[in-house]
Amino acid sequence: ATAATAAMVWFRKGLRVHDNPALDAARRCGAGRLYPVFVLDPRYLRPDPAAASPGSARAGVARVRFLLESLGDLDARLRRLGSRLLLLRARDDVADAVCAALKDWNIGKLCFESDTEPYALARDKKVTDFAMASGIEVFTPVSHTLFDPAEIINKNGGRPPLTYQSFIAIAGEPPEPVMEEYSELPPVGDTGEYELLPVPTVEELGYGDLSQEEIPPFRGGETEALRRMKESLQDKEWVAKFEKPKGDPSAFLKPATTVLSPYLKFGCLSSRYFYHCIQDVYRSVRNYTKPPVSLTGQLLWRDFFYTVSFGTPNFDQMKGNKICKQIPWSENEELFVAWRDGRTGYPWIDAIMIQLRKWGWMHHLARHSVACFLTRGDLFIHWEKGRDVFERLLIDSDWSINNGNWLWLSCSSFFYQNLLPYYIWEEI
Ligand code: FAD
Repeated sequence: ATAATAAMVWFRKGLRVHDNPALDAARRCGAGRLYPVFVLDPRYLRPDPAAASPGSARAGVARVRFLLESLGDLDARLRRLGSRLLLLRARDDVADAVCAALKDWNIGKLCFESDTEPYALARDKKVTDFAMASGIEVFTPVSHTLFDPAEIINKNGGRPPLTYQSFIAIAGEPPEPVMEEYSELPPVGDTGEYELLPVPTVEELGYGDLSQEEIPPFRGGETEALRRMKESLQDKEWVAKFEKPKGDPSAFLKPATTVLSPYLKFGCLSSRYFYHCIQDVYRSVRNYTKPPVSLTGQLLWRDFFYTVSFGTPNFDQMKGNKICKQIPWSENEELFVAWRDGRTGYPWIDAIMIQLRKWGWMHHLARHSVACFLTRGDLFIHWEKGRDVFERLLIDSDWSINNGNWLWLSCSSFFYQNLLPYYIWEEI
């Protein structure tokens, strides 16, 4: 085959230069021009005037701000390599915007990271079908997770493993990250009539008066992700002794865990690179903790939920979800709103919900507390309602992990033994 004259790398998650096999393939395919594209998706970004705090129904303003910071950082990093980010805004459907650019820019090769969320699968299929029909070569490597969820499901006889231990037994060791250093990318080609946006601010996107909003202390982007990871991992003893259930969920100034989740969610940090760097620390110490409580154990939880969610139809709902217990949850809007707005009268629960609203991040055990309180613990309200609040307000909101943990915490799936603390159960 002759080399494509122009290649496109389409960023969605994976907002990074390091360990980015899609970018790497586009860079190496011999194309003289490379178009690095991100398309702003109105599905996430349309501000919702009816919402109690700024944001759209799906993405609160803190997460949108984190995304924009990540795009700004990606653009700066690409510019250092002689390229830049081409930021487009879809009028309606992102897939249509990508297909139009493929055609108008005469792209011969399209590279993007594979994504397992249902919304992304439908979007990506539309683009892939168009590309194939137009003779455009498509490359979609797995690099958001340690493992390929489809491969694990295959190895398990076509079904996702439903326990952490069986998942680990099948998974083995993840592939090495792609960490080659290079100093230049092919130049960006002509973009014709296209309107290329500078990275906007949240205000420019139409989010109203934000003067009262507290800005979370976590800044988006690959540069900050790598800095934060290095800072966490330089304390080797902390890494070696890391035991998730023993962390203090009310440690705010120096959180008890890494707070890398928003960076992993947007792919500012590669989970494979993170895993690899933790292994380096393990090699330099005598003893270290093991999954499920260790730091690598946390990354394996992430992959576990990605795999189960990929292989389970209707994973994000109770109805039609085979692994979800069918529970007659009660309906009580007043109690639900009190929980959502931090007005239950239980100081611990209310403090966590306020932290969610202000920071978009809480320690895992704090999430446990409020999820348990809303569902099986106290209010007996449907986990899907709590999931929606988390989905909107978390800066690390992640479709697979959020739904997986709500299923877990409400005793709807994975874990039914509600008399035991979860960490005892996990060790059984
Ligand atoms: P660390 O302990 O430093 O762990 C490192 C990484 O491992 C995390 O960044 C994360 O990517 C992964 N990880 C850690 N714990 C889990 C877990 N239990 N399941 C899957 N992956 C994990 N995490 C999200 O990233 N997005 C969500 O939307 C989300 N929703 C949650 C909802 C509920 C009800 C609960 C109980 C937990 C949820 N979690 C979610 C999981 C977990 O609480 C966060 O990943 C973790 O607190 C992030 O902090 P950290 O980066 O400091 O974690």
